[in-house]
Amino acid sequence: MKRRFWTKDEISYICEFYLEQTAGQIAQKLGRTTAAVHVRASSLGIQKRAKRPAGTGSITSQGYLSFGKGHMQRLAQRIVWEQENGPIPAQHEVHHIDGDKLNNDLSNLQCLSLSEHRRIHSGNWKKEKGQWSRRCTGCKQWKSESEFHRQREPSNSIRPYCKLCSTIRRGIYRDRMRQNERLSKAKLCRV
Ligand SMILES: [Zn+2]
Ligand SMILES: [Zn+2]
Repeated sequence: MKRRFWTKDEISYICEFYLEQTAGQIAQKLGRTTAAVHVRASSLGIQKRAKRPAGTGSITSQGYLSFGKGHMQRLAQRIVWEQENGPIPAQHEVHHIDGDKLNNDLSNLQCLSLSEHRRIHSGNWKKEKGQWSRRCTGCKQWKSESEFHRQREPSNSIRPYCKLCSTIRRGIYRDRMRQNERLSKAKLCRV
């Protein structure tokens, strides 16, 4: 069977009506199977019997599914993560591992500190099994933190080039300086 992608309108429809209508009614309206509607709703993080804040679901301007209004508004990924793990610690956010903001399946959610979360969205970092790795700006390879030099205090942040690449770059820089020196000497001699 050919895979049909879910359109934004279909997803919005599920968000809005999944808790009020039967999956069968929604399936009929969207021309999908009941099972497909259940699967999509569950990957959105909506469960028929789940505890949730009042109000129907809607998609925020940033593309997240949320429930409730105003100060009662809660993001679906936070609700789903908390149902399994308890309250999200302060200064932490829930991240969508595959980048799909509407895939609120528990396996796709990761609780990260704000700074870790920022790292991940920079595109240069990833965290696997508790281990961070960074993509080197030079060789484009993923390497562990220890394979990079650090910036001097106080920032102490990781430099964008891995140790190997910085060595090579230093070499190239030195060669270029030497060449420039030779060229200027050569010019002097001709005068
Ligand atoms: Zn994220
Ligand atoms: Zn490198």
